[in-house]
Amino acid sequence: MDVQNEINELRRKIRHHSRLYYVYDKPEISDYDFDMLMQRLEALHPELITPDSPTQRVGDVTLPQFEQVRHQVPLESLTDVFSYEELFAFGKRMDELIAEPHDYSVEPKIDGLSMSLEYENGVFVRGATRGDGQVGENVTENLRTVRSLPLHIENAPERLIVRGEVYMSKAVFEQLNAEREIKGEQLLANPRNAAAGSMRQLDPKVAASRKLDIICFNLQYTSGPAYKNHTETLDAMREMGFPVVSYSHFSNIQDCVKQIEWLGENRDALPYDMDGAVIKINSLSQREALGSTAKAPRWAVAFKYPPERKESKVLDVVVQVGRTGVLTPKVIVEPIRLAGTTVSAATLHNQDNIDRLDLRIGDTVVLQKAGEIIPEVLEVNKSKRPANSVPFKMPELCPECGAPVVRDEDGAALRCTNPECPAQLLRNLTHFTSREAMDIDGVGPALLEQLVNAGLVRKASDLYSLDVQTLAQLDRMGLKSAQNAVAAIDRSKQNDLSKLLCALGIRQIGTKAARVLAQRFGSMDALMNATVEELTAVDDIGEITAQFLQRWFADGQSRDLIESLKNAGVNMTSTEAPQDLRFAGKTFVLTGSLTRFTRDEAEALIADPGGKAAGSVSKKTSYVVAGEAAGSKLRKAQELGVPVLTEDEFLALLGGKAEDDPENGENGGQLGLFS
Ligand code: ZN
Repeated sequence: MDVQNEINELRRKIRHHSRLYYVYDKPEISDYDFDMLMQRLEALHPELITPDSPTQRVGDVTLPQFEQVRHQVPLESLTDVFSYEELFAFGKRMDELIAEPHDYSVEPKIDGLSMSLEYENGVFVRGATRGDGQVGENVTENLRTVRSLPLHIENAPERLIVRGEVYMSKAVFEQLNAEREIKGEQLLANPRNAAAGSMRQLDPKVAASRKLDIICFNLQYTSGPAYKNHTETLDAMREMGFPVVSYSHFSNIQDCVKQIEWLGENRDALPYDMDGAVIKINSLSQREALGSTAKAPRWAVAFKYPPERKESKVLDVVVQVGRTGVLTPKVIVEPIRLAGTTVSAATLHNQDNIDRLDLRIGDTVVLQKAGEIIPEVLEVNKSKRPANSVPFKMPELCPECGAPVVRDEDGAALRCTNPECPAQLLRNLTHFTSREAMDIDGVGPALLEQLVNAGLVRKASDLYSLDVQTLAQLDRMGLKSAQNAVAAIDRSKQNDLSKLLCALGIRQIGTKAARVLAQRFGSMDALMNATVEELTAVDDIGEITAQFLQRWFADGQSRDLIESLKNAGVNMTSTEAPQDLRFAGKTFVLTGSLTRFTRDEAEALIADPGGKAAGSVSKKTSYVVAGEAAGSKLRKAQELGVPVLTEDEFLALLGGKAEDDPENGENGGQLGLFS
């Protein structure tokens, strides 16, 4: 691969992973692996780095809802180092640049969100995110909910700016996730993303419910007394009442390394996640003399620990059947403590991955957490392999129901062929009743398991014929909870179509896709009769999803389920008005100067009924709308035989169709705007 290709590939990967991380809070790779991608990109010909390159902008995702704040003192980011070698090189650089004796502070680097906190006469007046270091977002109201942040400080200077890190403690994180698991909600990926998500909430009540904490680590500005050393400012901040990072200071890099090692070994004991250690020159005047490069201060570096890896012994490989019938192998290991939690199992994904690892029962494997949360097997330590071990093969029959399994035509997944497989049924029902689906409170996995085992529920629609007497006889169900469950089931009949669509568990149809489909088609019948063309005309619905939908609706069992849900009185419509779809799948090209409307107005007229406006003419173009002095695009359309419309004809197309369809009659009125 040539350098430019590798750079393009790296940029693509980094953008992809930073979107997953920052926007969706769903990392797929560890921070360490992400840093490695960044470092590789930076190492390749820096002159090829363009202003839009990810190394220039990672972490500066700003959202439009919060007010922008220009930082009085920039919040700089630090240069990362990944080895002790690089750390010694930093020490050597300092020795060369600073003539006098110099000492260093070493602090844990808290894995949270950096904030600037402003105080006037001891009152907390404003807090902002780091943003790009120069401009951040005003999150004062959310910060006020952070319990450890002092809102008033005693004996304060007139003006004070402090930098701190907002984080979610490991204990709160685990508690929140335990609660979410019980409610069937999506789990938070890691404490930092949970904290970031909370700070982005526009409603401070949500932020408050997340029980965030803060630790301060730098004095950005003070109108009060001048300090000599960084560690002095930390002591002063502690006296003012701030929670302050723990630090130690040393006169040489060797001792710093010992401290860094010690911090690394003891990271499990900290209440917060630590993603590194920070080494800073302690003297403030020396810092000022050293200054900063365009990217980072010269006087500090952040040491990044590699993700913790540990060995454990494979006790077993078990195969689970998921909601969509996919068989997933899971390795069971002797429990070990890994990056803050106890790990006793890890997913192996599929047979291809098992083959790649050559993993066998009895092996010793190296484990690590991907995205700092999901345990995964990195490799097998083959030197510890017992004699007579045999390669692991996925079963040919479903471990739950004994039906044959087949390999998906579009991937490595193995799937149980029995649509009534009890494992699938239970997971389908758990999904059906979950909050993002039909939201049936009081019908949890334990009750569902009893209902499935007793043969009372064979498909989701059976839930609607359960009565209080039947439920009250089940284990751990009193009259009261049976009444509640039946009431909740009954209430769910009124749910919007979007919730039902999500509940059906059709591949690729999650909450978001379900919502857009419900809005677009308005009723189950309209959706069932939609063509692939009409489906793919909906934002976020691609060819594959459209095919999954059609295949699902074509299946006899699915149709039976819909029919029995209908008969049970479950709502099959969306309260969102069905949208006008006359132009679904149609592409328009506008050319020449339009006299009856602006480009934007014309594009909106095309988009409202589901059409698309494109920039260039091709065989796939449905219509070209030609205004005055139309040139090459008009000629191209004539060459290709694409229908050409005048503005009047375009209006007639919009208006005429509306007349054909009395339901859309009122849409004709909008044309008056342009006549
Ligand atoms: Zn099965």
